[in-house]
Amino acid sequence: MLEIKGLKVKLEEEDKQILKGVDLHVGPGEVHAIMGPNGSGKSTLSYVLSGRGGYEVTGGTATLSGVDLLDLEPEERAAEGLFLAFQYPVEIPGVGNMTFLRTAVNAQRKARGEEEMSAAEFLKHVRAKAKELKIDADMLKRPVNVGFSGGEKKRNEILQMAMLEPKMCILDETDSGLDVDAMKLVSEGVNALRSPDRGFLVITHYQRLLDHIKPDVVHIMSDGRIVKSGGPELALEVENNGYADILAETA
Ligand code: ADP
Ligand code: MG
Ligand code: MG
Repeated sequence: MLEIKGLKVKLEEEDKQILKGVDLHVGPGEVHAIMGPNGSGKSTLSYVLSGRGGYEVTGGTATLSGVDLLDLEPEERAAEGLFLAFQYPVEIPGVGNMTFLRTAVNAQRKARGEEEMSAAEFLKHVRAKAKELKIDADMLKRPVNVGFSGGEKKRNEILQMAMLEPKMCILDETDSGLDVDAMKLVSEGVNALRSPDRGFLVITHYQRLLDHIKPDVVHIMSDGRIVKSGGPELALEVENNGYADILAETA
């Protein structure tokens, strides 16, 4: 599914290498977590996969189901089934949440050569998904993320994910002071959307988030590389002892 090999990335504007050869394989149905000290390049990895500007790939590959992601525009990556949820969701005043979701879903269908959903069809679909995820239908009528609480933004992100039915979801929760309730929302959302043909990459500082999500694999990133991979016990080790021991052992 998501296959990253030897990915090297530098800043476009500066001669600063951030990713120094990242290898990662997330298979269908798998949930992988990436942890690591601040500044190790976790967010850079998610930005580069999403196609955000400002970075230059200097080596390696990243493919989704065999399709080269790095050659595609951000919206083409989404059409291929990549979904990225970011720590600070954008507010779009004047655009209703429902309209936003419908535009996103139809853009994706169009890019896949599928027919657009009618307004009535979409309404039925989005209401069913919202109900399934226990999301208040009122939220669909409000402008995108405007005045949403932290929890509502998280709920909305999960709803976007559910509507777009991605193959691969990447969540970067690294620096957002996720409180316990928001953490629960994110983990319940991920668990609700887990499926045998969908992969997840969850980037987080918080071991507690992984208590609820129960990843199949935990990776530790340091200085632009994945330095250790293991099972959920690796997250517990970080929680108990911090990164120092792991980094010393892998140095
Ligand atoms: P993490 O998410 O693991 O905390 P980041 O990917 O945010 O790490 O950052 C990795 C390194 O790259 C840090 O040293 C950070 O300062 C640097 N960096 C990332 N993006 C930029 C940028 N646009 N300009 C300057 N430095 C950057
Ligand atoms: Mg950071
Ligand atoms: Mg980060």
